[in-house]
Amino acid sequence: ALTIGIVGLPNVGKSTLFNALTKNQVLAANYPFATIEPNVGVVNLPDPRLNALAGIFGSERILPASVSFVDIAGIVRGASEGEGLGNQFLANIREADAIAQVVRGFADADVVHVDGAVDPKNDMETINAELQLADLQTLEKAITRYEKEVKGKKIDPVVLEAALAAKDALERGTLLSASGIDLTPIRELGLLTAKPFIFVFNVDESVLTDAEATAKLAALVAPAQAVFLDAKIESELIDLDPEDAAELLASTGQEESGLDQLARIGFDTLGLQTYLTAGPKEARAWTIGKGWKAPQAAGVIHTDFEKGFIKAEVISFDDLVAAGSVLEARSRGKARLEGKDYVMQDGDVVEFRFNN
Ligand code: GDP
Repeated sequence: ALTIGIVGLPNVGKSTLFNALTKNQVLAANYPFATIEPNVGVVNLPDPRLNALAGIFGSERILPASVSFVDIAGIVRGASEGEGLGNQFLANIREADAIAQVVRGFADADVVHVDGAVDPKNDMETINAELQLADLQTLEKAITRYEKEVKGKKIDPVVLEAALAAKDALERGTLLSASGIDLTPIRELGLLTAKPFIFVFNVDESVLTDAEATAKLAALVAPAQAVFLDAKIESELIDLDPEDAAELLASTGQEESGLDQLARIGFDTLGLQTYLTAGPKEARAWTIGKGWKAPQAAGVIHTDFEKGFIKAEVISFDDLVAAGSVLEARSRGKARLEGKDYVMQDGDVVEFRFNN
């Protein structure tokens, strides 16, 4: 499964946030395929549509999609130079498919800031600089190797060209994700600044409700997406029953908990979407990539569904809810039979027809 690595300077609230993530996973323990590892938090993707489907179909249980977060050991200035911590850190982060950078915005004199002052912009620059340095090291080693391999006609010169262009961009201070360079020829290098980023601002409650303040922070990281939360409140929310949690959330002026936001934005940043299935046993969201066609989407349920794919009967969620049942949706002409070239849309409620 795709994972998001959580990074950030020391004392920014990573552990507090991660504890909330892992507790959340215990509550969501009906998820059957999650292997629980200490540094992995599997979080359900909130999807109220599943409750509506369960109502229509009388489903016994609800199985949402999920997002996995990996807690990556703290990054400090100089991490890219260090041996022990540096290497383990780099190995973990390289495996992540996207990076969530936790940035401290809360002011608490009792919690020491590593650089002496709470300064989100400076903190992000510190982290980015470490990641850029790590990428430069990776590229320098690779370029030496690629040069030999190009001479020996062992690899396509485009590999070397991409590596040189990437090195050049990093030396100019650009993150590779923003460089516009086609990095596919050097994908094997797992370059860190080529990964999609989410910024998680851990802020005081007063900032959560201050639209101007959050807009300013969001502008610092755009076009990357920003999540605003108070890690302390998140860890309290987890211990409350749903009603009390909703009340606490409302009192902070938020419609959605920070963890829910993080799951939703993380899922989107990973380039994922869901389609839905429902029946008396379960109402379920299935994870696919954006732009996937019907047979590939069917393969997520079972490889036989993909191999023997005939058609997909698709009803849009809104049409199904308006009709109240599959039969009624059919009689209103809202059930479409889609073939193998159909591109799946968010909110499709699907039943696959296949040969086996
Ligand atoms: P990490 O080093 O990034 O993992 O940071 P921790 O999660 O261990 O947090 C460092 C300290 O900051 C702890 O004492 C936390 O209780 C505190 N802390 C974390 N998040 C918040 C927050 O949102 N507000 C305040 N006031 N303190 C926080």
